[in-house]
Amino acid sequence: MNLLSGDVKRIAFSRPTPEGSERFPIRRIKPLMEIPEAEIALFAYLKGIPFQATTCPYAHESIRSRAREILNQLEAEHPGIKYNLLKSYLEVSKSLKPRGKEENLCTICNHPSSNQICTACTILTHINKQNSHIIPPN
Ligand SMILES: [Zn+2]
Repeated sequence: MNLLSGDVKRIAFSRPTPEGSERFPIRRIKPLMEIPEAEIALFAYLKGIPFQATTCPYAHESIRSRAREILNQLEAEHPGIKYNLLKSYLEVSKSLKPRGKEENLCTICNHPSSNQICTACTILTHINKQNSHIIPPN
């Protein structure tokens, strides 16, 4: 989806970083990244692992759903093409951002973030704005 939306910054930031880095010591692993979604669902089903089986009622309206449909069609016609796309994505990601060089720090909490303000601080700021009219009890 990052490729289709042209979100180069997210492409650079979304790859696994199993080693972590000096500024961002938290390792990001994606152990199921290369496993097709259908195989993961089948494994969960066979092992009795609960999972969300109901599709979003608006999924048919999303570009993600259409992209999945197209990719699955390509995969059926050219087995391995989805894996090749993933490998290409990861290679592009590596070349866009050498590990640990360009990570930002959130201007509010000073934790590593791909944006000027991290997602946690963005959500907390939004919640605080939403609840600013509530007067706390004494
Ligand atoms: Zn933050």
